[in-house]
Amino acid sequence: MRKPLLLISILCLFALSSLVGQQEKAEEKPDPMKNFSLVSETQPVQEKVKVGFESITGQDAVTYLKFISSDLLEGRDTASDGYDIAALYAASMFELWGIKPAGDPERSRTSMRGMFQPPQKSSAPKRSYFQNIPFIETLGSEGMASVEWQKGQQKKTKAFHPNMDYTYSASETQSLTAPVVFVGYGIQESSLKLDEYKNMDIKGKFVMMLSETPGKDDPESPFNKGKLKEKYYPQRRRMRRMSSPKNDLARDKGAVAILMVENSPKVNSDVPRRALDSQRINDERTIYPVPRRRISLAENLGPSMPRESIPTIRISRTMADDILGMVGQNVETLKGKIEKTLKSHSTTLQGVSFSVKTKVETKLVNSMNVLGYIEGSDPELKKEAIVIGAHLDHLGQRGDYIFNGADDDGSGSVGVMEIAEAFTKNPVKPKRSIVFALWTGEEKGLLGSRYYVANSFMKTAVNLNLDMISRVYDKERIAIMARRWGAEIEKEAIEKIDAKKYVSLSYDANTPEIGIIMRENNNHVGLHIRLQEQQDASGGSDHAPFARAKIPWAFLIAAMTEDYHQPSDTVDKVSPDLMEKIIRLTYLAAFDLADK
Ligand SMILES: [Zn+2]
Repeated sequence: MRKPLLLISILCLFALSSLVGQQEKAEEKPDPMKNFSLVSETQPVQEKVKVGFESITGQDAVTYLKFISSDLLEGRDTASDGYDIAALYAASMFELWGIKPAGDPERSRTSMRGMFQPPQKSSAPKRSYFQNIPFIETLGSEGMASVEWQKGQQKKTKAFHPNMDYTYSASETQSLTAPVVFVGYGIQESSLKLDEYKNMDIKGKFVMMLSETPGKDDPESPFNKGKLKEKYYPQRRRMRRMSSPKNDLARDKGAVAILMVENSPKVNSDVPRRALDSQRINDERTIYPVPRRRISLAENLGPSMPRESIPTIRISRTMADDILGMVGQNVETLKGKIEKTLKSHSTTLQGVSFSVKTKVETKLVNSMNVLGYIEGSDPELKKEAIVIGAHLDHLGQRGDYIFNGADDDGSGSVGVMEIAEAFTKNPVKPKRSIVFALWTGEEKGLLGSRYYVANSFMKTAVNLNLDMISRVYDKERIAIMARRWGAEIEKEAIEKIDAKKYVSLSYDANTPEIGIIMRENNNHVGLHIRLQEQQDASGGSDHAPFARAKIPWAFLIAAMTEDYHQPSDTVDKVSPDLMEKIIRLTYLAAFDLADK
């Protein structure tokens, strides 16, 4: 593993002095506040950062945000007019402030929506602020599925229809045919002596499983307690879409795909309604049934996660019974046996073969990251950069609904803009360069940041990611979260947290100096920070592609509210004061990281 210069030099400065000192103290008596930085009395900043620091105000942030999150921009969907207007706005501000462009070499005629052209080689390319990225948009798909049972001369078949009997969104035209194995809930838990894969041959087969876990509605079920609950029902909503232990297990066993049967009879098992509901909207108006747009990178940059999940085909109860019925079984009976005994009732469906075909129509579209930078003051160190990023895209619109995305991630975007402005205004520049990045395609799977990591403008020393930094918790919500944090030792700390100043900071555990720098600078800002070192960035936002490339990272996120991914994520709900503090902290930390 390559270690950046920065890491080593900062380690020398800190590791020997303050860090070691803190750890020694921590061993004597466990410090209930050790994961927190709660600052109430702030101290003035150093002269060298002062001008930039003071130029950052919550009022400015909200002013930019009013534009970025306006209805005119129609929710800034990747490869849409609304996104392009936001990108052009940010680029214009960068130009106005004197930020240097860090995008592709400029073409003779600027066409934002034009097809992707590879950067031309010339002696002195004049760059633009846009890093164009070619994407594939999946327009629609047709498909069919069927099950066949054969024994000697006997044969039975049944056909199923997409969005009637099942939902499956393949990203490419494909045809899968394989035998079927029923694996109950698809769970392997040694603590419960439950192994639904025991003695089952899964390789190259469809695994049919029930969603959720046994005893879902029974508070006494072992799956509704402690570690198992956290494993199967992770509280952090954003992580849920990235991976699931049941999918991971089926993949590791060599299954080709999952046939997922709705477990709870309470949930409407009518597949089409559920498909349309996949983006639930907290509103009384009728949901206009428009599916979300699907966009992926045209260029193959390798798997988006360390291990990709396998396809999941959601099938209705009726369809599941039709398949199991081929061998005289049904969902209710099998489920009943598993719930009662917590033992495996997995079974190979002898002679049964399932097949699903999908034809997918696609087109090429274009979108862009917005990139600018200020050059570092040191002739050598300026060749590497602190990348401060946030995603400019959001969910777009569905029918009458505009997803304004003021907090997600208009707030981070205007944060990056304000920091860019601060660095140009500040007369003293740090040694390393600073790249200001507004990513496209985050909501479609971190696409813009992934593309940047594979096609970087210059070497990245650290990535600082701002995503959702404008909303505040109240005391009750902090208490609820605190229960989730679990640790008894932290209870004392919780009482002292001012919900209005709360922000969560996670950062690369291999680079503890990021935490030290953030703590130090919080003395000038006065936030109430919960700090978490993490071995892996567990997906979720744009720092993850940097983490995977072994680049040190930090991620700041404030309150997760009920407006998350809703049309109600609007600018009137943001806290200018909280934004100001988080943006100022990021500015100071970026300065220090760049100047070490
Ligand atoms: Zn976001």
